[in-house]
Amino acid sequence: MSRIFSGIQPSGELHLGNYLGAVKNWIQLQGQHPTIICIVDYHAIITVPYDPDVLRARRREMAVSLLAAGIDPEVATLYVQSAVREHTELQWILNTITPLGELERQTQFKDKASRQESVNAGLLNYPVLQAADILLYRADLVPVGEDQLQHLELSRVVARRWNAMYGRGEDYFPEPQPLLTPTRRIMGLDGQAKMSKSLGNTIALLESRDEIWAKLRPAVTDPARVRRTDPGHPEVCNIYTLHKAFSAPDAVKQVYEQCTSAGWGCVDCKKVLLDAMDGELVPIRRRAEELRAQPARVDEVLAAGASACRAIAQQTMADVRERMGLD
Ligand code: ADP
Repeated sequence: MSRIFSGIQPSGELHLGNYLGAVKNWIQLQGQHPTIICIVDYHAIITVPYDPDVLRARRREMAVSLLAAGIDPEVATLYVQSAVREHTELQWILNTITPLGELERQTQFKDKASRQESVNAGLLNYPVLQAADILLYRADLVPVGEDQLQHLELSRVVARRWNAMYGRGEDYFPEPQPLLTPTRRIMGLDGQAKMSKSLGNTIALLESRDEIWAKLRPAVTDPARVRRTDPGHPEVCNIYTLHKAFSAPDAVKQVYEQCTSAGWGCVDCKKVLLDAMDGELVPIRRRAEELRAQPARVDEVLAAGASACRAIAQQTMADVRERMGLD
């Protein structure tokens, strides 16, 4: 049966882009396939200087958010990347067969590198660590948002190369395929770039109704709706995308009609969205409160997940070492 692997950085709070673009897919798939969800702390230390205590706290908080959102440790495996040392061992090995040109043309590398004064090798090699994360578990399916498609393509290139060089005629590493949700790309509240932890344009999954409203109210909508009486174009509006994710189909239809006929203003439309979001997010916020009160329980889940993953990872590395003459 296909194995699912996906990861999320503990570099900040779980936000609606992560939730709609990836996490909802994990929750839906976890009962159907063996599913491994990794809190990728080695990825989170690359881009900006950070405080070790803050990272520790954020790893636990990410686990709380994922469990509250619906990751079920009875059926899925949830763990922290650095607890399984084989990730970095496999990364080194894959580095030796990854073409530099492929890394240099990764859009996320070019984007992030252009925003930094000095660029670390880790930023360039990030997709190789990601390939190692996936291949370590010989995962076939990777539910991610659209921003990760290019990285996943690189994982396939690396898997193919390794198989050709060391696979002894066998496709030891499957070529991982992406799984996208209907909301594959959520824009930030500025409407300028994807919603991302590193851009500070997010709505966090666990924010209160008031906090969400404070961000939603001024959020960018269709730029053509300058006056209240101007008809809008829902297909270019991020608020409409969020309606499609949170509102019932009838309500989405109504939003479309009210926007294109200028029946509602953007603030009216946002108020309806806020109520729809509450329907889904209030129970998640409640579960997160309960989990925060039981840190030992969260640690237990992560320890059990790491132990299960270590067993798979050690087997993969034993095979890899043997085939490469490193045993
Ligand atoms: P971030 O970009 O906020 O740091 P991560 O790199 O940790 O997020 O990504 C975790 C998952 O969330 C990935 O599968 C990624 O594709 C998905 N994701 C991140 N941002 C968005 C977005 N704005 N829209 C849809 N999916 C997203």
